[in-house]
Amino acid sequence: MSQAETLLEVKDLSTHFFTEDGVIPSVNGISFKVKKGETIGIVGESGCGKSVTSLSLLQLVSKPGRIVGGQILFNGADLSTYTNKQMREIRGNKISMIFQEPLTSLNPVFTIGSQISEPIRLHQKLDKARAKEQAIIMLSKVGISNARKIYNAFPHQLSGGMRQRVMIAMALSCKPQLLIADEPTTALDVTIQAQILNLMKELSQESNTSIIMITHDLGVVAEMADRVIVMYAGQIVEQNNVFELFKNPKHPYTQGLLNSTPKIHQLKDELESIEGNVPTPSNMPIGCKFHPRCPFANEKCRKHEPPLIQADQGSKVRCWLHDEKEVIGL
Ligand code: SF4
Repeated sequence: MSQAETLLEVKDLSTHFFTEDGVIPSVNGISFKVKKGETIGIVGESGCGKSVTSLSLLQLVSKPGRIVGGQILFNGADLSTYTNKQMREIRGNKISMIFQEPLTSLNPVFTIGSQISEPIRLHQKLDKARAKEQAIIMLSKVGISNARKIYNAFPHQLSGGMRQRVMIAMALSCKPQLLIADEPTTALDVTIQAQILNLMKELSQESNTSIIMITHDLGVVAEMADRVIVMYAGQIVEQNNVFELFKNPKHPYTQGLLNSTPKIHQLKDELESIEGNVPTPSNMPIGCKFHPRCPFANEKCRKHEPPLIQADQGSKVRCWLHDEKEVIGL
C-alpha cells in the first residue's frame, strides 16, 4: 500500500457557510491524501464537518456554503478550480458518490434501468443495447437476483436495502477511480449493512477503486478502512492507520469515541459517552476546540489551539499532550 500512487490530495481545504447570522467555518484547513486502491474512513459526530468535506470534493456544497480556500488535487488536477461543466465530466464517472438515503438520490419518475444505463452510455460511449446489458450485469453483481425485472422497476417499488444496492451498482458502473460513500449503510439493518460493505470491498478490490467512507460508526471503519481521519469541529484531530488508531488512540476525542463503541469481548452494562456536545459555530471555544469536553484539559488547552502534530510515523494528532516540545519541556 505504501508504494501506491496518490490519487487524491486535499491541501488546506476550507468550506464556509455565509449565513445571515455570520460565517460558519464548517471545514477549516484540512489536508489528507488518498492512494490508489486505498480506503480512508472519515469519522466524527454529526456537525464535525465530515459530510461537508465529501460534498466539497465534488463541488456539491449548496449555497450559502462555498469553498474558500485550499486545493483538491485529483490525479494532479485541482478540482476546486473546475467549472460546472468540467465537474459533470468527473462526477459519476471518475468519482462516484453514494448517499445515506437512496430515495433522495434516485429519481422517482425514471426506472432503475434508465438511471443506471444512461451514465454508462454517456461516459463509456456505449450504444443503448450494450449499456442496458452492462447495467444488468452491474445489478447482478450487487446481488440483485432478478436483475432484468428490477431494471424495469421504479425506485418506490424496491426495499431500502435493494435501493442501496442499486445506488452502489450506479456508483460503480462506470468503474470510478474514487468512490465517496457518505453513511452508506446507516439506514439499513445489520445483516444488509454487512452484505453491502462486503460488496463495496469486493467491487473496489476488483477495479482498484479508492474509497472515502464517511461515517459516525467506528465498526464500519474497522471493517473497511486502511486509514482513519477523525474530525472534530471542522478540523482533523487525528490521522492514523486503522490498526494503530484502534490499538493506541492518541487524541482524547478518539479515545472517547472508542470508549462509546460496543466491543465484542468487553461486556459492560453501560457504554461510556463523551460528555457535552459538539460546539456550535457561534459558540466555538477559544484554544483547543475539544477542551470543554476533554478530561485532560489544562490552562494551556483553554488558551491556545494546538496544531496538528506529527506524533510518530504515519500518525498525526491535534493535542498538546503529544507535542514533543511540551513533553520534553522545551
Ligand atoms: Fe484535551 Fe488539551 Fe489535548 Fe485539547 S489539547 S484534546 S483539551 S488535552
